[in-house]
Amino acid sequence: MMQIYRPLNFIGFVYREIRQGLTDIEQMFALLDQDAEIEDKPNAKPLKVDGPVLKFNDVKFHYDPDREILKGISFEVPAGKTIAVVGPSGAGKSTISRLIYRFYDVIEGSVEIDGQDVRDVTQKSLRAAVGMVPQDTVLFNDTIEYNIRYGRPDATDAEVREAARLAQISDFIDGLPDGFNTQVGERGLKLSGGEKQRVAIARTILKSPPILILDEATSALDTQTEREIQTALDAVAQDRTTLVIAHRLSTVINADEIIVLRDGRIAERGDHEGLLAQEGLYAQMWNRQREVDEAGERLRKAREDA
Ligand code: ADP
Ligand code: MG
Repeated sequence: MMQIYRPLNFIGFVYREIRQGLTDIEQMFALLDQDAEIEDKPNAKPLKVDGPVLKFNDVKFHYDPDREILKGISFEVPAGKTIAVVGPSGAGKSTISRLIYRFYDVIEGSVEIDGQDVRDVTQKSLRAAVGMVPQDTVLFNDTIEYNIRYGRPDATDAEVREAARLAQISDFIDGLPDGFNTQVGERGLKLSGGEKQRVAIARTILKSPPILILDEATSALDTQTEREIQTALDAVAQDRTTLVIAHRLSTVINADEIIVLRDGRIAERGDHEGLLAQEGLYAQMWNRQREVDEAGERLRKAREDA
């Protein structure tokens, strides 16, 4: 029993989510699987957010001591800039986002926001400052409205609707008999991966956090919807300190710096043009993606002609 109850004690945030009912049991267990005992230090202070600058100082991390996941990662996202992290699946990209949100603590090195180690500040203030669109979105068993408003509980109805519009989910919602009052989750309407992702994007647009983390935030969307939402995401990211983890490289061309992660290390870094000129891993990924995109385009045309 201890194994089940212990994790509930330490992540207040997760605990609240569980109490309110996660829609996705698998994800609940994925969250509970986190064995890090993350607690506020007795003298934890609220995070002071000014710029804010986000910094990784030679970060090493493992989930399991037998297998190092991040093997010394250093980078800085200057205030208001956008840094992209790309790389093969399993490279450790999502792990980076989890360390910023402090789902886990680093093993060595540090993660700092405006010079404050995230381990020294209250989790409440940290999570107020950071907005994350995760790879897999967990919704509450409540209305769509509640799920979006969660980003900023005191938002007006008009603001909630505007966020939904920007996230390209308002037409879908308006088409439902109960509209924004539709119950979602396991006791209500089950949303597709792409719909859940758009609810999470609406929530984050509404939250408008000083620090934004997008972890393959549009991976479950078709190319057309992705393009449309990208505009809204670009607007949110504008002048915000943003870390974008991307599967589709076309979305990171304009990043101030692109970090190519492979096997827990930074294999290459630079801007898009510079990385292409290196003719390394990034250039390979770029060329392969272009081939896949072109093949998809040919297929689509062929279907249209048929
Ligand atoms: P990426 O986002 O680049 O695909 P992740 O950061 O999610 O990679 O994962 C990096 C590695 O860590 C993977 O090999 C993954 O299997 C492992 N991993 C991720 N989460 C856990 C966990 N909770 N426990 C153990 N290993 C994990
Ligand atoms: Mg990932």
